[in-house]
Amino acid sequence: MDANKINLLNYDRNMMRDYFARLGEKPYRADQFIKWIHGDGITDFDAMTNLSKSLRRQLQEQAEIILPEVALEKLSTDGTVKWLFRLADGNSIETVYIPESDRGTLCVSSQVGCALDCSFCSTGKQGFSRDLTTAEIIGQVWLAVRRLSETDKRHDRKVTNVVMMGMGEPLLNYENVLPAMNLMLDDFAYSLAKRRVTLSTSGVVPMMEKLRDTSEVALAVSLHAPNDELRNELVPINKKYPLSSLMAVCKNYFKEETKRKITFEYVMLAGINDQPKHAKQLITLLQGVPAKVNLIPFNPFPHAPYQCSSDEVIQAFAHRVRQSGIITTIRKTRGDDVDGACGQLVGQVQDRTRRAARWREKISIPVVAA
Ligand code: SAH
Ligand code: SF4
Repeated sequence: MDANKINLLNYDRNMMRDYFARLGEKPYRADQFIKWIHGDGITDFDAMTNLSKSLRRQLQEQAEIILPEVALEKLSTDGTVKWLFRLADGNSIETVYIPESDRGTLCVSSQVGCALDCSFCSTGKQGFSRDLTTAEIIGQVWLAVRRLSETDKRHDRKVTNVVMMGMGEPLLNYENVLPAMNLMLDDFAYSLAKRRVTLSTSGVVPMMEKLRDTSEVALAVSLHAPNDELRNELVPINKKYPLSSLMAVCKNYFKEETKRKITFEYVMLAGINDQPKHAKQLITLLQGVPAKVNLIPFNPFPHAPYQCSSDEVIQAFAHRVRQSGIITTIRKTRGDDVDGACGQLVGQVQDRTRRAARWREKISIPVVAA
């Protein structure tokens, strides 16, 4: 990394056009450049044959493309892939790919750690280190797309969906998350449909309003409790933005598109939020809100103060909510043999040696050094 050079992975199409304008270049040149980097995965300026030689030289002098490093790559028995990416400052983040019959979902991180300290989340327990740059966010997508096609040519493993559900609260790093999501949607970059890119938030209400006004991506809200008393305990940001304000913004979030729904995530914690009375409160709370509910079996981590609800309890809860007419799904737990399941994304590996050794024992494809 060269401190005097600009990392062009930080720019979405509009930012790239501004930069190219400063070089005296037309907007379509910036578009071609975006296509080289993100569409074709080419980071060597010299290989960008439709750009003039003098432009390529200018780019080489001023700019660079810096991606995170692949520190570890691990394939789970169910096809889930988990990467540990090392950043230039030594921090690490995790990204997970989850293949299903009709889609391939990439779970992307937005921060190193998280400041919001939800009581059931291992990322929250780790504390907050820093925001990711746009380059580090979109770099996860760039690397996943390339690693998936390089490491297994037998299967057509594509990224068709992105969920901002890795480490961090994306709406507290909005400035860097937005250009990265713009690139995910950009036809010249990753060309994902707006319904296939989902931002998940614990409920940062003012930023939800901003997101609604600036991006068309899908929205998931980490609800987890149907009343303020319990939500204050599980999702502490509820003390700042209580359910009344959260539900007010959710009610008319997709104003123009009446059929679009918000996904409400609800982690199933035995004896805490999984009782019939909670299902009843949830139904009342979601009245008049364009809602789907996704029940997430709690993924335990060391010293977690909770246990996952039993299958029967989860099924009964789902049945109750469904009976009110709300579409309710139960998330399949995937990749837990690679610690890639929700809430297990512990990125900053302090005791890297021990963890790396443990991963290697379980690994079913070779460890990829960067
Ligand atoms: N900060 C954002 C996005 C990252 S968390 C948010 O909270 O929405 C992604 C999802 O994983 C959230 O719904 C979160 O509540 C859930 N999650 C966190 N820890 C979990 C755990 N231990 N078991 C199951 N789901 C968990
Ligand atoms: Fe942060 Fe989301 Fe974890 Fe809460 S659930 S601590 S907001 S990452």
